[in-house]
Parts: sequence; C-alpha cells; structure tokens
Amino acid sequence: RPRVVIIGAGIVGCALADELTARGLHDVTVLEQGPLFATGGSSSHAPGLVFATNPSKTMTEFAKYTVAKYSRLDLDGRWCFRAVGGLEAATTPQRWDDLKRKLGLARSWGVRAELVGPDECARMWPLLDSDRVLGGLYTPDDGLAKAVRAGEAQARAATARGAAFLDHHTVVGVERDGGRVRGVVTDRGAFPADVVVSAAGFWGPAIGRMAGVAVPLLPLAHQYAFTAPVEGVENPPEIEARRPLLRHQDRDLYFREHGDRIGIGSYAHRPMPVHLADVAEPAAEASEDMPSKLEFTPADFDPSWRDSVELLPALAGSTIEEGFNGVFSFTPDGMPLLGESRALRGFWLAEAVWVTHSAGAARAVAEWIAEGRPSTDVHECDVHRFEDAQLSPAYVADRGKQSFVEVYDVVHPAQPIEGPRPLRTSPFYQRERDLGAFFLEGGGWERPHWYTANAPLVRPEDEGAVRDPWAARYHSPLVCAEARATREGVALYDMTPLKRLEVSGPGALAFLQRMTTNQLDRKPGGVAYTLLLDPGGGVRSDLTVARLDEDFFQVAVSSSLDVEWLCAHLPADGSAVLRETTAGTCCIGVWGPLARDLVQPLSGDDLSHEGFGFFKARRVHIGHVPVLALRVSYVGELGWELYTGADMGLRLWDTLWEAGRGLGAVAAGRGAFNSLRLEKGYRLAGTDMTTEHDPYEAGLGFAVRLDKGDFIGREAVAAAAEREPRRRLSCLTLDDPERTAMGREPVLVDGAPAGYVTSAAYSTTLGRTVAYAWLPAEAGLPGTAVEVEYFGEPLAATVAAEPLFDPQMARIRR
Ligand code: FAD
Repeated sequence: RPRVVIIGAGIVGCALADELTARGLHDVTVLEQGPLFATGGSSSHAPGLVFATNPSKTMTEFAKYTVAKYSRLDLDGRWCFRAVGGLEAATTPQRWDDLKRKLGLARSWGVRAELVGPDECARMWPLLDSDRVLGGLYTPDDGLAKAVRAGEAQARAATARGAAFLDHHTVVGVERDGGRVRGVVTDRGAFPADVVVSAAGFWGPAIGRMAGVAVPLLPLAHQYAFTAPVEGVENPPEIEARRPLLRHQDRDLYFREHGDRIGIGSYAHRPMPVHLADVAEPAAEASEDMPSKLEFTPADFDPSWRDSVELLPALAGSTIEEGFNGVFSFTPDGMPLLGESRALRGFWLAEAVWVTHSAGAARAVAEWIAEGRPSTDVHECDVHRFEDAQLSPAYVADRGKQSFVEVYDVVHPAQPIEGPRPLRTSPFYQRERDLGAFFLEGGGWERPHWYTANAPLVRPEDEGAVRDPWAARYHSPLVCAEARATREGVALYDMTPLKRLEVSGPGALAFLQRMTTNQLDRKPGGVAYTLLLDPGGGVRSDLTVARLDEDFFQVAVSSSLDVEWLCAHLPADGSAVLRETTAGTCCIGVWGPLARDLVQPLSGDDLSHEGFGFFKARRVHIGHVPVLALRVSYVGELGWELYTGADMGLRLWDTLWEAGRGLGAVAAGRGAFNSLRLEKGYRLAGTDMTTEHDPYEAGLGFAVRLDKGDFIGREAVAAAAEREPRRRLSCLTLDDPERTAMGREPVLVDGAPAGYVTSAAYSTTLGRTVAYAWLPAEAGLPGTAVEVEYFGEPLAATVAAEPLFDPQMARIRR
C-alpha cells in the first residue's frame, strides 16, 4: 500500500483523501499551508454554484457524482449541498437557441432539465424582469455546495479511515530520485511518500516547479460581489437560499441568494492574471483575509452592476456592499489537469477543478491511483493532452485568459481558438493558403477544412441538408464538392498533423504486441490497425502500425496521450525505443479512384494492386522525393499515405499537384474527410469510443486477436468477448435528407432519451446525414426507428447496417 501525500486541503484535496481511503489506501497525509478547513484557497470563498450540464460528458459525470455525494453529506447536522435548482435565462435569440442545444446535452448525459417560458422564469425569480427574458433552462437537481463544509465532512471520513490532515505545513520542495517522487519537504520537516498529489489549486504551477513538472494553468481573478439587503429576498441563515441559482450568460453573470442579499459573480471584466509571487501568505487562523481574495476593483464591476439592475430591476434600490476579486485556475482549454506526470513518476496532479466537479474528479484520480484506471473516461482532463507547442508559458497565459473570456460564451464545437495562430503549419501551408484554404485549428496545427479554389466544382445539390445558422457555421458546400471529387477522381489531403512515432529495437515487436490488440507479427511491409486498451479493456485509442523492418515500426497514433501511454510502458531494459517524428516529417493522403493514375507515372516502383497490396507499406520514390508509402485509407478509396521529411514536403506537394492537373486532382479538407470516414464507419477514438467502451460494443472486435498472446486489457476484453453487449455504437441515417445533426444530441427510443450521438455529418454520397450513436443493444439493430433530438426537435432516424458505403471494400482493394 503506497504512502500518499496530498498537497492542499481545499475541496479537491479533502475529496481525494476521502476517495483514496475509501479504496483502502489508508496511509494518506494531507499537508495544508493554511488553517483547516477554511484554508484561504479558492474553496474557502467559493459561492458554490453547481450547474451540472456541460458539453463534456466527463465533466457532467463528475458534477452528477459531486451532487449525489454532497447531498448525502452533512457536517454536524448542517447541509453540504442543497438542490435549489438552476435557471439559465436567455435574453437573446442566440442564447435561447443555445439553451435548446443545452437541453439536448442535459438529456444526452442524463441530467433532468426543461425549458421554461418567461412567466415561469419570473415565478421562480420574482425579481426578474420577465419582459427581458425569452425563456430559461431549468435544472431542478442543480444547487449550492458548501465547499468548506463538504471538505471538512470528507476529511472527517478520511481521518476515520486513517488519513492525517496537517495544517500550517507549507510544502517547499518535492524530493525525487531516479525519475520517481520520494516525498515532499515542508517548512516543518520532510514527508517521505510513494505517491504525491498536488491538489494545490492555483498554486499548482509553484508546486510543479518544485517537481520539475509543467503545470499549464493560469491563476486569474474573478469578481464576486454582495448587494445590500434586497426587498423581497428573505432566507433564514441556515438555508441561505430558496430560489434557483440564476445565470445571465448573455452578460457573463450569475446570481444566488445569501439570506437577504444577492451574490453576483461576473466573468464580464477584463482577464486579470495573478502572479503567484504577489499572493499573500496564508493567515494563522481562518479569516476573511485570504490569499485567494484580492481587493475588489469596483470600476471593473460597474458594467456588470448596470446589467444586473437591468435584469433584476429591484436591485436598483440596493447597492454593492462588498466584493472581492477571487483567484482560481484557468487552463488552455478550460478543462482540469488530472493524472500522473510522465516527467516524475508517482507525482500526480488534481488541479483546475471547480467545486462543481470536485468529488467526481477526486473519485477518478483515486480510482486511477488505487485501481490503475478511472471508471469515467478522463482523456479530456488528462494532464498529457497538450502538445509541446501548447506548453509554453506564453501559450498557457494567452489561452488561460481566453478560457476566462469564454466561460459563458456560446462556443460552437468546431470553433477554432482565436490565437495564438498560426502556431504549427505543415510544409504545404503556403500552397494551401494560395488555394484559399479555410483553416480550423487542432493541437496547435492549422488544418484546412475546405478550399475556396474548389468553388467551380460546387453543384446545387452540394448545399446538402438545409442548415440553420448553428449547423451552417464552419460548413460550406465546398465540403460536399470535395467529398464527391474524392469519390469520383482523386484528392490530396494534408495529413501532417496525424501524430507518428518510430518504435525500434530488438524488443520493439514484443513491446507493441503487449501494448495493443491486433496481431503485429507480420512480415516487414505489413500494416495493421490495432487498439490500445486500458487495463480494464476500455478503448484508449487506435493505432496504425507499419512494420518497416524486423525491428523497426512506424506507428500512427491519435494524440499525445498515446505517446505518453506508450512511453510509460517502454521496456526498462531499453530493448525498444520510441521517437516521435511528427514535427520533422509530413504526410499527404492521395485518395480516390484515380489515385494510382496520379501516383504511378511519378514512380519507378510497382504500385499495382499485385505489386503493392492493401495494408502494405513500402519505401518508394515520387519524382525526386523519397517517401514511405502506406496503402491505407481513412476515406474508403484507393490510395496511399505518403510520408517524407519536412524538407521535401513542398517538393512532394508540387510534384503531385503538377501531375494531378490532367486528372482534375483537387486539394480536400477535413470537412470532406470527416463525411467520408463516417460513410465508411471508421471510428474516431476519443469521440466515438473511449475507455468507457469495450472493442466489441464499439464495433472494433475485428482488431482484437485474443489468441496472439498477452496484451494490456486482454483479460477484461476476453470476458467482454463472452457476453452479449449491453449497448452498441450504432450507425444511423436521418430519414429527412434536408435535416442534419452535429454530434452529442440525445437519441430517443420510444420518445425517451436512450443514447447520444458521437459524430454526425452530411453524406454527399448518400444524400443524407449519417450519425454514429451509442444505443442500448436492442435498439441498435438495423431497421430500428429512433429520433435524434436536435435543438429540442425530434428528427426521425433509422438504425442502418454498416458500413453504408462499399461494404465489400471493392473500391479500396483493386
Ligand atoms: P483550493 O481551494 O485553492 O485549495 C488548494 C489548497 O492548496 C489551498 O488550501 C492552499 O492553501 C493549499 N496549498 C497551496 N500551496 C501549498 C503548499 N505549498 N503547501 C501546502 N499547501 C498548499 N466553482 C464552482 O464550482 N462553483 C462556483 O460557484 C464557483 N465560484 C467561484 C467564485 C469565485 C470568486 C472563485 C475565485 C472561484 C469559484 N469557483 C467556483 C471555483 C472554485 O472555487 C475552485 O475551482 C475550487 O475551489 C478549487 O479547489 P481546490 O481544492 O483545487 O483549490
């Protein structure tokens, strides 16, 4: 049983101590620089609003668990959570529409929610000017968490199981040796440990520096103010509030009752980054002067006060009595930082977590430490999700500030970050710009979504489905034109951002065999699609592994999480080594029925089906350019991925482009790519399936070879192979060709939510929208009629046999 030290007794540290000790890890010491339990950190003053619904399923699960757990807790008879309900008011048509979408998210993730009209809003909040409100989203199970109380209640439970909480112990150093954490040093002595978890909130980067671990979060101040007593607001002190939490996101505001006063939080002001060096020392006793509370700057709040009075006219008779600028953490993508550091084994982060998600995030980290895997998929929160390019202090600062600005914005799922851009570009970037590429951003890369140069190809039918303004954003008829050009001719896709590694050494095969599910022991030149499972048999990711030599593999992975996972499991004897090659190389996907007509004349190598079969890899030359060619296709057409060094990338592009002129070759973007992959049923790891799903229910059983020997997750997946799946990743088509969907919508079976859409796109080939969705097994059978609820409207859909396009693979294998 490891000795665990947790740094910080805020809500996260307390919840984690409880969750760890509940899992049998009793040797837990929580070190806190301030007093217990109003420590002076962010939790000490958090107004505790809990709104569970989030675009992320994971974050919603975290919040649901937090609500369920804190509802059961009390501290000496005083409540820790009260479900006063939540009301998000819309004052603009855009927000009203967004609330309909949010209702869909709530229904997808199993949160009770309903849309209510202006009168009902005013009934719930009589101070509200119902003429200003178009409607609201009411969530009865949302409510108020008392963070300090819930922290103390969990700490008591943890202490009863053996944990120790030590106040006034400031961690000043992290001891390490041989890449492992050995303990921490405090101003009152050393604490040896096998596992150290930094739950230090916005102090995280300071702890990170002690450990030599990058902690990409930015402390920012956020204003919270209290009015004087307001007429009509009366709540006994013990319950604090009766009316629902109220959000006025069109003005970046939220409200709650505090007895006879109203508390107002604002995200409307300028971002106010906080330097840790300027943060005060913790107080000796719990007090209102806290390191996390900075002086109120009234001028920043003035516009928010005017907006508050406009929404709640009764406030005109009141004033702001007091306020503060409270400090908490913002990350580049607004998500928490959870997980064990690769740079220092045994050193974990549990930071940038709101009170809302505290118990759920703590449970995930505790499961991860105690049992090797969290039961909830956490890839969006994993500390290793960032690319190196996203870890510079400048990036963390720029993006952290933007996360603050966007907290209450209506953010479209495809919306790219505003800056810093461009950050990473492929060697073809200038050519793509010349073709009028419309770029979206991912992992720091500029990724063409479509090219305006293809405008002459657009036909009237490429309008596809009728798009409302939401679905029309980040979409163009060019997407359909490029998809058709791929199916009918040949297209060049910039695949450079696809992450790739070289794995080599005498132990390389054994290593990759142990890490993944498919049989990789093929002759050199063989390529395999294979899965990375976690120990519980859940799908972490998928990989394409090309054996280039006996001891040399190229591995295409989905994200930096895969790199971290593979690195973490490299054999200790050095018999396999791994090197990421993404940055120094580039890749063009050449796909379409004319792909061979384009590539063969440029090469002296035999590129015929007989000479270069499907799922094979060869080193060939395209004109002057040495390339590694993989005969694979994510779009379901004949063709190759062509890899070369970044230095020759432009030459490769120009060579193909020149030769393609006579064939009508086009450049095509991610929009077409996504539509074509869905027609073929090619799943996207992290989007369509996660660690919460086994390969069989995800429709990926073909990539599992139980008879090949041991691999991570084998035992669990062998058990899964024996049972009937409870749910299935199912292919749907919308019945009405004029309608479309975007992903994350609830799927209704017999009128009730029974699953949710993972990916959706209009299919040019089929002339209707294709969606993949998780459904109960019995509903996931072809022919079943279901409904996809889009902005509150049920759209008829039918479960289809998949893949929808070219099930015989005739177009690829020729
Ligand atoms: P903290 O509570 O800050 O705990 C970290 C602890 O680590 C501190 O006690 C600190 O003293 C200790 N520590 C740091 N360094 C050391 C060291 N070297 N040695 C020992 N101990 C150390 N969230 C919601 O969900 N709902 C809300 O309504 C809400 N409103 C908010 C309003 C404001 C004004 C602010 C500022 C935040 C709000 N939040 C809200 C966010 C929420 O308060 C925080 O995300 C959450 O409290 C963070 O909890 P934590 O345990 O990670 O951090």
